[in-house]
Amino acid sequence: MSSRRVFVMTLVAGVPALAARTARAQTRVDPKDPSAMALGYAADTTKVDARRYPRHDKAQNCANCQLYRGAGGSAEGPCPLFPEKVVAAAGWCASWQKKP
Ligand code: SF4
Repeated sequence: MSSRRVFVMTLVAGVPALAARTARAQTRVDPKDPSAMALGYAADTTKVDARRYPRHDKAQNCANCQLYRGAGGSAEGPCPLFPEKVVAAAGWCASWQKKP
């Protein structure tokens, strides 16, 4: 079998796996997920329970958190606290740290 044919077959075989990985990477964190609940994650920072998190400020959100890995102006992006998922730029969790 020629090396070109092997290359093409490998490429074709890898497309579904790549598509699946991309789809997983774009799954948003579910605020009802146990790990999200443990961190008090909310997809909308204005909906955070002020009694449970009295130091939370509505100006704090994932987009201005130093852990946020989304592109500037993006609606969602990766956060290392939630591997293989994305958080809403407008979201918040108790691990929020001001972006320097
Ligand atoms: Fe959002 Fe930061 Fe919490 Fe990650 S650590 S979910 S970016 S507030």
